[in-house]
Amino acid sequence: MAKTLAGWLDGSVQPLARGHFERDLASLRVGGGHECRRRNRASAGPVSEHATGQALDIFAFKLGSDGNASQVVVEKPEGLAQNRFLDAIRQSACGAFMTTLGPGSDAAHANHLHVDIQERRSRASRFCQ
Ligand SMILES: [Zn+2]
Repeated sequence: MAKTLAGWLDGSVQPLARGHFERDLASLRVGGGHECRRRNRASAGPVSEHATGQALDIFAFKLGSDGNASQVVVEKPEGLAQNRFLDAIRQSACGAFMTTLGPGSDAAHANHLHVDIQERRSRASRFCQ
């Protein structure tokens, strides 16, 4: 997961941040990483990919440094540039990870971008919403 995430950050997110805002990605605001629980925090049902450390929830992308820092919040992008940036981020995540879920997919993912590397039946098959 760390290797896939690092590759995606270097190969897609950083170039997108520079292209859209002429700023470097400084950090991510993340929620659940490696956390033993069931999917969507339900009391029953399948175990989440977070339980095996194969998933990450991203809430915001922090751009730039100190005095000139800003952030793009997944739940509430501001303006056309931030919306376009998040669309491109999501599209690139769909290529880098096996599963990508975000706002608009379901209520459990309305405020963050979930990415994981859980293999599907076919290696070419990805889940992207
Ligand atoms: Zn998640």
